[in-house]
Amino acid sequence: MSEALAGAKEHIETARAKAAVVDDIPAGTALKAIERVGVLGAGTMGGGITMNFLTAGIPVTIVEREQAALDKGVATMRRNYENSVKRGRMTQDEVEAAMARLTPSVEFDDLAACDLVIEAVYENMDLKKDIFTRLDAIAKPGAILASNTSYLNIDEMAAVTKRPEAVLGMHFFSPANVMKLLEVVRGAKTGDAELATVMALAPKIAKIAVVSGVCPGFIGNRMLSPRQQQAQAMLMEGAAYNDIDDVLLEFGFPMGPFQMSDLAGLDIGWHRDPAKIETIRDALCAAGRWGQKTSKGYYDYDESRTRTPSAEVKAIIADFAAKQGKPQREIGKDEIRERLLYPMVNEGAKILDEGMAQRAGDIDTVWLNGYGWPAWTGGPMYWADHVGLSEVVAGLERHGIDVSPYLLGKAKSGANFND
Ligand code: NAD
Repeated sequence: MSEALAGAKEHIETARAKAAVVDDIPAGTALKAIERVGVLGAGTMGGGITMNFLTAGIPVTIVEREQAALDKGVATMRRNYENSVKRGRMTQDEVEAAMARLTPSVEFDDLAACDLVIEAVYENMDLKKDIFTRLDAIAKPGAILASNTSYLNIDEMAAVTKRPEAVLGMHFFSPANVMKLLEVVRGAKTGDAELATVMALAPKIAKIAVVSGVCPGFIGNRMLSPRQQQAQAMLMEGAAYNDIDDVLLEFGFPMGPFQMSDLAGLDIGWHRDPAKIETIRDALCAAGRWGQKTSKGYYDYDESRTRTPSAEVKAIIADFAAKQGKPQREIGKDEIRERLLYPMVNEGAKILDEGMAQRAGDIDTVWLNGYGWPAWTGGPMYWADHVGLSEVVAGLERHGIDVSPYLLGKAKSGANFND
């Protein structure tokens, strides 16, 4: 871990406090009472989201389409709570009290009694639109209707309802009962009272809320995209994937992009046809390399999950690079670091320019609390200020990446993001 940048700790605290404030909503805006929450979908996210409210003393109705999926989701919640007892973080009485606040159901109409409904069904716009149409038909007047979507357009969901002011995004991070970050997505028509209510609710369920505008991936996942693109591009140019991961580990991230893929599972979203190999991921999945779950992905894993780079994977990558006629070269760690991190800062600048984040500190808060960006740096935008925005611009230009005019303007005038 590197030595903290001057002022990083203070910046993190100030940024976090400011993130709770929505600049254009008057401080005295009347909040809605949230006495019962509804969660739709008892999968990975729905279960974790539910636990936050149960733990905070707020009753939850959780709805699934089938009894088996519902039972499985409820059992997982209980198991997670029991683990907290084993770790001494909760008492058995507290677990029973939390579980007693849960009403599991397979009846969609049971969501009608809820003041806030959060949908966590599959990431599919047609399905989400159908859900919002049905929620609009049954939810009580004044209820807030939220989506946990990772990338999809909240305004499109709002548009199928007769109450677009009620609709917003509540983007939790996995595991949702643990991760602190909550991106609150403000749609074009989201009401002030609805947004202010959710922002005020966040600390009650131990979350740090940051407001994002509607754009693909919101703040966090949107900035992750250019990093992933560069990681893949460098693979094709001859960089070793373990070097790419190591650069981020040395910077202070808990893991690198390829470790992250292995942990999440390479098979997620895979077409499942072993004969159809168009990407490195297709080739890895076809070879049974699905990530940690099959003990091999980009890396080979032993019983203690220690990773070893794989010769098989390196051959697969080299084969792809050869087929694409990519010249191979050694890529040094400085270049890897610049190409992973400067494009994220560049995307952050675009997000600010478009007004998708209220302030640079909000972007720092997202990355510090949702993605393991190392605290010693104060967050991506604070770090960029310390690197020097002229150097970030020069680095992007060195690597042939288009520079955001907003970033360029700041660099030319000698300004900082966090001024
Ligand atoms: P999942 O597959 O684990 O769970 C989805 C659940 O929804 C399933 O249990 C399914 O039975 C249920 N479901 C589907 N249609 C339904 C319907 N009509 N009525 C009731 N239940 C229904 O998926 P997940 O990982 O929990 O993701 C859910 C949402 O959260 C997606 O929009 C996803 O993009 C988002 N998200 C996921 C993560 C993550 O890391 N997994 C992180 C943030 C956001």
